[in-house]
Amino acid sequence: MSKIMAINAGSSSLKFQIIVMPEEEVLSIGLVERIGLPGSRLEIEYGDDQEFELVEDIPTHDRAVELLFEHLGSLKVIENFDEIAGVGHRVVAGGEIFKDSALVTDEVIQQVDDLGEFAPLHNYAEATVMRAFKERLPEVPMAAIFDTSFHTTMPAVNYVYSLPYEYYEDFAARKYGAHGTSHRYVANRAAEMLGKPVEELKIITCHLGNGGSITAVEYGKSIDTSMGFTPLAGITMGTRTGDIDASLIPFLMEKLNITNVQEIIDIFNKKSGLLGISGVSSDMRDVESAAEEGNERAQLALDIFYNRVQKYIGQYVALMNGVDAIVFTAGIGENSAITRKIIMDGLTFFGGTIDEVKNDTRKEAIVSTDDSTVAILNVPTNEEVEIAREVIRLSK
Ligand code: AMP
Repeated sequence: MSKIMAINAGSSSLKFQIIVMPEEEVLSIGLVERIGLPGSRLEIEYGDDQEFELVEDIPTHDRAVELLFEHLGSLKVIENFDEIAGVGHRVVAGGEIFKDSALVTDEVIQQVDDLGEFAPLHNYAEATVMRAFKERLPEVPMAAIFDTSFHTTMPAVNYVYSLPYEYYEDFAARKYGAHGTSHRYVANRAAEMLGKPVEELKIITCHLGNGGSITAVEYGKSIDTSMGFTPLAGITMGTRTGDIDASLIPFLMEKLNITNVQEIIDIFNKKSGLLGISGVSSDMRDVESAAEEGNERAQLALDIFYNRVQKYIGQYVALMNGVDAIVFTAGIGENSAITRKIIMDGLTFFGGTIDEVKNDTRKEAIVSTDDSTVAILNVPTNEEVEIAREVIRLSK
């Protein structure tokens, strides 16, 4: 039995799970939130539904790691830190360097830091947290698992933007995608559920959460994905625009009297998407309820969301010249049967038909009819387990 810590650090948060491998059983789960902000807190769930909460000023990620270790020890979630067999750190941007997960060395931490300009909200924090863990657990194998690695198999025809080519050569300005750990997990799981090798399947994976992306997984490899240079591109998301015309940037800056381009990028990231269109909420459940009550903008937000997902699925059917399976995952994809139904009902032309009875689920299931020529699946994602698997794989 090995206890693996899966760590997911953001700009002001640090989420963790302790997973027992190979059983893949979650022993404890929790987070530190609002790091460096007023009202920071630590929460640990453990044992038989026991919960611990600490509200105190947590000014830095270093302090967050220190408190986490202190309380995992005092709550006896971990009696002795020798029990930790490995740590996996989720990293958002791996650039063109990390085509696979990597064992964490000082050099890898430096490279993650250096890639910070590709994901300023994440990579710097992730590097800091990796350093803090390495100081406390110097002998424990540690792996960095990159959101972008799964997409490094994309061919140039899909990752090079139609810009002067030197911008790619000189600045590495290209499509990287994101959510790779989730897309890889659900594509492999879908192949297992269908009883076929992933290397023989054309799969479209739809990760529909607060952030969302669609990936074309051809014979086990990502060949295209809807997110771009950053996670702003692609489908309409909770608060993000997805694809828009770049000419809107100077146009809106002038209309809104904005001189700092970062302000408009913040609007595209934080005030747009479902929230911006509906004016109600970024949360799909709220938007669905408002639409049901007759709110027309909420209904428009839903229609735009379905439409963007359908357009990407259509693109990827064309790109792969066919599809064997379509997989839904993440908060909306896993839980909203109506979203899966509406999206797929508009795409019956290539042979995928939802079975309404089977689709009435939030669990792992094949939700298409028996005679559907394209399988439709609901596969709850599990990025933490995928991280733990990667730690075990690399530490061997
Ligand atoms: P995630 O980022 O994967 O945690 O997903 C968050 C999104 O999932 C939010 O927009 C939630 O409203 C949405 N979500 C969670 N449960 C449901 C549900 N039962 N029906 C519709 N959307 C849901």
